[in-house]
Amino acid sequence: MGGDKNRNMALQSTATYPQLAVRPVGKQIHQLYRDRLGQFTDNGQYKEQGLLAKLYDGRLNGEENVKLSVWDAPDLTRPTFDEATKRSNEYRKTKIGESFGPSWSTHWFKVQFKLPYDWTYKPQVELHWDANNEGLVWTHDGRPLQGLTGGGERVEWVVPKEYRDYDKWHTIYIEMACNGMFGNAPGGDSIQPPNPNKYFALGQADLVSVNLDARGLFYDFWIIGDAAREFGQDSWEEHQALQVCNEIMDCFITGEGSNSCLKDCREIAKKYLGDDVDSAKVYDNDNEALISGIGHCHIDTCWLWPWAETKRKIARSWSNQCDLLDRYPEHRFCASQAQQYKWLEQLYPYAYDRVKTHVKKGTFHPIGGSWVEHDTNMPSGESLVRQFVYGQRYFESRFGERCKTFWLPDTFGYSTQLPQLCRLAGMTRFFTQKLSWNNINNFPHTTFNWVSLDGSQVICHMAPAETYTAEAHFGDVNRSVTQHKSMDQDPTSLLVFGKGDGGGGPTFGHIEKLRRCRGLADKIGKLPRVTMGESVDDFFDRLEKKATDGTVDFVTWYGELYFELHRGTYTTQANNKRNNRKSEILLHDIEYFATLATVSGAKGYKYPKKGIDAMWENVLLCQFHDCLPGSCIEMCYDDSNELYAKVFFTGEQLLADALEALGFNDKTAKNSQDVGINTLGWDRQSSIITVEDTNKITSGVTNSRLMYLDPSERSALPLVFLTEAEAGVYVLENADLRVAVKDGVITSLYDRNAKRELVPKGGKVNQLVIFDDKPLYWQAWDVEVFHLNSRKELKAASPTTISENTPHRVSISTLTNISDKSWIRTTISLSAAPSTLDSSSKRSSQLEVSAEVEWHETMKFLKVEFPTNIVNTEASYETQFGIVRRPTHYNTSWDMAKFEVCCHKWADLSEHGYGLSILNDSKYGFATCGSLMRLSLLRAPKAPDAHADMGKHHINWAILPHVGALDDRTVRAGYEFNYPVHVATHPEPRTIQHLLSAFRLTPDSSNSLVLDTIKRGEDDEDASNGDMPAKKGKHVILRIYDSLGGTSRGTVNLGPIKVSKAWKVNLLEDELEEAVLGKNGLEVELRAFEVGSWKLLLVTKHAEIHDVDERKAALHTFSSAETTVGHFEMETMWFLAFNEDGTKIKVLTELVDSRSVAELFVKIEAKKKESAA
Ligand SMILES: [Zn+2]
Repeated sequence: MGGDKNRNMALQSTATYPQLAVRPVGKQIHQLYRDRLGQFTDNGQYKEQGLLAKLYDGRLNGEENVKLSVWDAPDLTRPTFDEATKRSNEYRKTKIGESFGPSWSTHWFKVQFKLPYDWTYKPQVELHWDANNEGLVWTHDGRPLQGLTGGGERVEWVVPKEYRDYDKWHTIYIEMACNGMFGNAPGGDSIQPPNPNKYFALGQADLVSVNLDARGLFYDFWIIGDAAREFGQDSWEEHQALQVCNEIMDCFITGEGSNSCLKDCREIAKKYLGDDVDSAKVYDNDNEALISGIGHCHIDTCWLWPWAETKRKIARSWSNQCDLLDRYPEHRFCASQAQQYKWLEQLYPYAYDRVKTHVKKGTFHPIGGSWVEHDTNMPSGESLVRQFVYGQRYFESRFGERCKTFWLPDTFGYSTQLPQLCRLAGMTRFFTQKLSWNNINNFPHTTFNWVSLDGSQVICHMAPAETYTAEAHFGDVNRSVTQHKSMDQDPTSLLVFGKGDGGGGPTFGHIEKLRRCRGLADKIGKLPRVTMGESVDDFFDRLEKKATDGTVDFVTWYGELYFELHRGTYTTQANNKRNNRKSEILLHDIEYFATLATVSGAKGYKYPKKGIDAMWENVLLCQFHDCLPGSCIEMCYDDSNELYAKVFFTGEQLLADALEALGFNDKTAKNSQDVGINTLGWDRQSSIITVEDTNKITSGVTNSRLMYLDPSERSALPLVFLTEAEAGVYVLENADLRVAVKDGVITSLYDRNAKRELVPKGGKVNQLVIFDDKPLYWQAWDVEVFHLNSRKELKAASPTTISENTPHRVSISTLTNISDKSWIRTTISLSAAPSTLDSSSKRSSQLEVSAEVEWHETMKFLKVEFPTNIVNTEASYETQFGIVRRPTHYNTSWDMAKFEVCCHKWADLSEHGYGLSILNDSKYGFATCGSLMRLSLLRAPKAPDAHADMGKHHINWAILPHVGALDDRTVRAGYEFNYPVHVATHPEPRTIQHLLSAFRLTPDSSNSLVLDTIKRGEDDEDASNGDMPAKKGKHVILRIYDSLGGTSRGTVNLGPIKVSKAWKVNLLEDELEEAVLGKNGLEVELRAFEVGSWKLLLVTKHAEIHDVDERKAALHTFSSAETTVGHFEMETMWFLAFNEDGTKIKVLTELVDSRSVAELFVKIEAKKKESAA
């Protein structure tokens, strides 16, 4: 059936097929034809026969065309352009081959050049400059144009048209920085401490004429070659790529590399790449792209170089990008870190204006919304808030827009409260990729909803190419799909490309390669399509739309994004971490006192916004993701020590000013009384404090932040006892605890109330232990799980001594030798039980330990242990605005990965009915393994800072046993252990008591609420720094959070402060909804672990009487009053009425409880009638 017809067709189609074989044709030996490709573009023995030899068709570097002279900046200074080009600076002649140094020095080159006639019409002329270090090209009149990286990377500066006239000398300057893109590490290992004595030879200062066909072919061949190497051999696309490449090589050989054969070769390439790869036109079609390419330059604000060098890296890198944005219309570039923009604005106005122009055009994208790309493990909750406040306000004030995407590609783990804080800072998206570095478990998602402790979510995307400094290789594009883990939901992704740090961001080569990847994807397929010209926000907009309209149900990840690496960063550079904690607390206290001083109308006092801003900006800067974690070189810590010293200097002054404005420490007053001021929002438990070598008992005034200081002799009876029970065994005992200590180690800790011994049999609480600490590679960053194998107990060096024995506190000290160079002296103190100092106290005693350490170790880790008999599979750790629970076991690899974790002021292990909290004043590393708790104290890595943590340290911790579950007692004890009681004098403390009762939660409020921050409104007209338009009136901002994880309600007592209106606001102080001002103050309600902010508008002079109806009512009241009143003024705490001649007629301070003006006037009227009668 039909057979005949088929036979006829077969005869026809083979009619011209030769009957006889002409010659033998072999099957290509695949790998030979593939390996051959290297001959064409490699730097090896065939270089001169291959394509590389054709890239440039001219090169000039003789004196006739390029003249070089140099001025060496003295003493490692980094002068400005004007300083460097002063007439008095002597520029000496120099030449290629001369060396410059030492490390970190700066050399300014005057480069004079002129082109021969036949070069004026060359398609592209470049200056190639390579001294293996970083450089910046300046015009002769001081405009920075472009950065240079060195070492073969970004060595070219395209000579602009205006420099290409015939036979005319032109001058540019090149500022040479004697460091490579990753600093000055001695050999190939860039994290080793820098070699201070490196010299850099000037290898190239050549004018070259570029053969654009050869350069184009170079990128064509690279990408098609990658297809031949990386597509599987089981795909026809791979085989075709190989054929095209071989065809190109054969054509090149046949044409002997002539210019015309280069064009032929490029024609062959089009078979694989399509016709449009020479322009942005390649992206000009409607084919759907899965990958969105975005240029980026990850500039570490400090790391293997100091801040001063970062400032130059920014100018170099962002100038490069402005240049590329001009040349490549599809290119887009995003840059984060408000601090970096601010530096550029201050130091490089021309470069900043260029950036600004591109921001306006929509090609340069500010991103991230934070001050720097900060660490998120260790900064306090309020620091995370301020990263956003200072970041977003900078971006909004300079570029008219806030960021929508939080951007932290390189930070070492992500706090569980970030999604909530992002949302409250106007950002709904989060980008990172660092978790791809996990060295135990593979994080399972690429795009997902990341959910906070309070339930808030952001869309998180982790680039599947697993880098934020992609080279825009074929492989990066390919991996964007092959490594994408959320393709069940959505296969799209970001490709973040560009060289980081000193690399200056994307290169023209990156953009050329991506054009070819796109051409290939459209012409051949198989490779996923990449698109350009979009912003990160465009990408997230689409995800957000899909999530919102329900097209896609993204998976969720609840809680912290724990980074399974770099766990040593909770401990390394202890001094820096301590400074961070102390400055956060100092800022808290200053803002509180300064707010109070301004709202109370203290004469001549102005909210020190400028000083506070400067302090915050420095603290936020030091939270950069290499600085606070401790992974920088030593120079950076010299820098940060200097900044912290400034912070503390300014801080002490601002604190003193505010206290003085509030009437404290008045040197002219007679008979002033010592008082303690509690900056925390609850009645602090009474405690023993030492003032000028004498112990005093602090006793709180209920509902006020004031504490009276009574001499501790007020009680004749000793409330705590110290005995030497047997030789060397000391017993410290108060109403709550009985503690036995031998050689500095607690052998018994007995809770008298619970009738419970806390030290397990044979256990040693407060035992100091040391570990060998040699991680696989990243010394300052990592501690690896195997360090636990090397645990060694440290033994006391000499007998314990009694250091304090008073009726209210006893202390014993023990010296322990760590090695022949290092020692630690621990002092264990027990004070009178809180309940014996103050019968209303519900707190139990804590045992406090202070340690002085002299530390000179190498690759060792010092910890202190607290074995318990408490059983729980989870321990709790304080984190920003909440608690994070982590396993105490090693069931799975995910559990085990958390063998060392981050905590803030405390960690807690509790079982039903009982628990133990360990408080600290400056530490962040902790581990709970079964029932054993361990506080990490000091490390001794030798790279990248050879002297990290060497020297003296002071560390405090405390052991707080508690009956019942973990609750507000631990949260508050953590605060009280860290926040000092401010000792001051006041002539009449009672007069300030009422004011100090303001901004506290009333006693009937949920105990879980913490009123954490009290500050003035950012844009208040009397406080504004002018970045944003000022707002009328005085505002107070209150930040309150639920610390324990449950719906909480409360009332903020306002004391004498008159508030006319209140709103719940976000972190940026935008009004969200009007809040309720009840009879007793501001009413607040928070869901579990919610962070709430409120803005209160205060009644001030004229401030409230802007409401027309209210003003009418007021005037009516006045006109009907007996006394003629000319005008009135309102202050927060009092009301003044004036006669028309200006004399004051009455001070109605007794009316301060009135809540509204109308009500106040009714009262005034009544009062007047009363006095008239
Ligand atoms: Zn980084």
